Amino acid sequence: MVCLESREEMPAWKWEIEEAEEEGIVIMNSWGPKAVFSEASEVRGLELKKCTTVFDSEGRFNPQFDDSDNRSVLADNAIIAIGQRGDLTCVRGGTLKINPGERLECDRETLSTSREGIFVCGELLIGPASSVEAVRDGHRAAKAIDHYLKTGSLLKQPIVELPTLGELPDDTAQKIKKQTPVNIELLPPEIRLKEFSEIERGFSEKEALEEARRCLACTTGALADEAKCAACLTCVRICPFNVATVEKTAVMPEEKCQACGLCAAECPAAAIALKRFSTDKMKEQLQDVLKGFPEAGGTTPLIVSYCCLFEVTSRMFIIQKSQSYIESGIHIITIPCVARLSVPDLLLPFERGADGLTIIGCSDGSCLYPTAEDRLLLRIRQAKRVLEEVGVEGERIDYWKTEASAEVSWTSFWEISRRKLLHMKGEG
Ligand code: SF4
Ligand code: SF4
Repeated sequence: MVCLESREEMPAWKWEIEEAEEEGIVIMNSWGPKAVFSEASEVRGLELKKCTTVFDSEGRFNPQFDDSDNRSVLADNAIIAIGQRGDLTCVRGGTLKINPGERLECDRETLSTSREGIFVCGELLIGPASSVEAVRDGHRAAKAIDHYLKTGSLLKQPIVELPTLGELPDDTAQKIKKQTPVNIELLPPEIRLKEFSEIERGFSEKEALEEARRCLACTTGALADEAKCAACLTCVRICPFNVATVEKTAVMPEEKCQACGLCAAECPAAAIALKRFSTDKMKEQLQDVLKGFPEAGGTTPLIVSYCCLFEVTSRMFIIQKSQSYIESGIHIITIPCVARLSVPDLLLPFERGADGLTIIGCSDGSCLYPTAEDRLLLRIRQAKRVLEEVGVEGERIDYWKTEASAEVSWTSFWEISRRKLLHMKGEG
């Protein structure tokens, strides 16, 4: 492969270059084509000239060559893979106007060209861009044509500029736990060379969940209600990522907030909602779960179990256990980090008639949120005190940390809690 750019300048990801080399492709950087050798109308090789620079001082593509520095390579075929642009041969000299950028003149909102009934999209509209943008414009053009055919008029589709998030500041970035990406297994190079099968094996469910956990949860985090906020600074004090600030009222910039939920769990004014898995949503889920509770007074202890969603490596495990454990009186609610449970959240199952609460957090060292476990333990102690003040044993709340995996340890935690509560009911 002959390439104008140096290895560092190549318009390819590092892994793409490495995969090509694994498959035996030799990359000749900083060379450009000078001539094609042929014999009896068949390609026999290429003469190359050294490419000294690819871009000019303003970053524009403007390759320069040293004609005195040449080399040649033998080849049976030459495949030209250079930048492409729309071929306007078929419209040149006609009524469709072409702008100086070699694209069709058009109205960007209606996609209508200079000739009525002809619409444009893709590279002839915006020039080189991503395939995602081409698909978007294809949809817009299809709508424009459909509207034109049905009504004879042009459909205005204003261009929506999507908002972009700001940069993550260093002091927040440094507090985020770095997680190594999961490598996708590839077919061995010798097989890749022989067939056209998909070379990426894809993720297993466990790997996909691990990979999803690397998401920084931008825009799904905390939102303070100005009307409720008392500017008490609790969220500022608690936020482990230095995100929350208070001006007149609390502000959590969405590009910085890591959606840990610690502030929402401790805001004394209940002024903070989480955009993903809010407390309200959890209450709804709890209501649904508790509908399945048998009448109070039975011999089976009724237990709500809040479990760390991040420790679940198989959705089937949760589906199966949720169904099978209902018979045993255990009702499972998975939560993206149990540290977002407030004291009222911990007391809610008891208000609704549960005999016990089993909280299962993530395993040692796997929590993404600094201080989260300490804050949760404080709240569990508070909830136990509240229960005891109204004559209910605090030991009805159990807290466990996942050991090994959810599949390995959760069943035994539920069993221990169930036996303890059976004993407290005088049945064990
Ligand atoms: S903890 Fe709640 S009330 Fe206090 S400043 Fe933050 S949002 Fe406002
Ligand atoms: S959700 Fe977490 S990261 Fe976001 S503001 Fe609240 S405490 Fe900070």
